[in-house]
Amino acid sequence: MLTRSALIYLSQQEGLKNFAARFGLFKKLTTRFIAGETIDEAIAAIRDVNAKGCTASFDHLNEGVQSVQGTEAEVREYLDVLSKIDETGIDSNVSIKLTQFGLEIDPELAYRNARRIAEDAVRRRNFVRVDMEGSNVTQVTIDIFKKLRSEFGLNDVGIVLQSYLYRTMDDAKDLLKTPARIRLCKGAYDEPASVAYPDKKDVDENYVRVMQLLLSSGTYHGIATHDPKMIDATVDFAQREGIAKDAFEFQMLYGIRRDLQEQLARDGFGMRVYVPYGKHWYPYFMRRLAERPANIWFVMKNFLKG
Ligand SMILES: Cc1cc2nc3c(=O)[nH]c(=O)nc-3n(C[C@H](O)[C@H](O)[C@H](O)COP(=O)(O)OP(=O)(O)OC[C@H]3O[C@@H](n4cnc5c(N)ncnc54)[C@H](O)[C@@H]3O)c2cc1C
Repeated sequence: MLTRSALIYLSQQEGLKNFAARFGLFKKLTTRFIAGETIDEAIAAIRDVNAKGCTASFDHLNEGVQSVQGTEAEVREYLDVLSKIDETGIDSNVSIKLTQFGLEIDPELAYRNARRIAEDAVRRRNFVRVDMEGSNVTQVTIDIFKKLRSEFGLNDVGIVLQSYLYRTMDDAKDLLKTPARIRLCKGAYDEPASVAYPDKKDVDENYVRVMQLLLSSGTYHGIATHDPKMIDATVDFAQREGIAKDAFEFQMLYGIRRDLQEQLARDGFGMRVYVPYGKHWYPYFMRRLAERPANIWFVMKNFLKG
């Protein structure tokens, strides 16, 4: 049986990534989790998501971009996305990854590129979420976010924290001083026990603790999870503390627990669906398999059906 670590390891293999992209395995393998290869396909998916009472966040898949030219293409893609959101009237913001904008080349380049997206988003009254990646870039991601946050408003830019990291409660307290809008997730990368809780039980307990801190802060945050236990804990805490349903939102990934997405929207909670699209789907897709290895059988069944 493939373990979570093995699947995350495979997600980082360039050769497999290129093989998967070159041979166009896209449609057969990925349709459940990825909205398509083009902006127009992502827009069509977001229209469906909006029709079900959910908002969305665009994610152009590409991480660890290693050339300045490549980062420029990513900036152009996101500017195009922001303009198309306006043109089509769909209800969506955007999520970006700093390694997509050159973090591994030069943090200053990543900052300048992210700033260009934030500037355009603000002009269009939209919102940019800075995703969180591996623990090797946690601090620099927070530093760049803080720089952006000092230039843009609370409702212009936000960040992500991961409950599997030991440091997250401290980061949350620190960021709330600014204040900042935070998306809380469990964390999707393979992290060593020196920085992250190895046991799921501890990750979940920390999730609940940080969720309670965020909900009590009076700032609008995103509670990103498909875990019914985390969702129930959030709903219970909000009810107990008299926190309004529209004081925060739930967030889930495209194609995962659609039943729960629609149920929460029907129950009057904000529900935002993260909609990934693009040709570089391989690492994202593999992380989804790592979260739930049973998905491998789902994917294989579809593949064999032709
Ligand atoms: C909107 C959003 C944005 C995110 N952004 C980031 C980010 O910036 N950085 C980061 O590191 N991680 C991010 N993640 C991923 C996150 O860290 C987790 O890896 C992922 O959400 C799985 O954790 P869980 O909370 O759903 O709980 P888990 O304990 O992993 O799963 C609970 C239950 O949810 C269902 N489920 C979970 N994953 C899947 C799956 N892949 N397929 C089918 N069912 C599944 C299953 O029923 C499972 O039993 C994001 C997640 C969401 C929802």
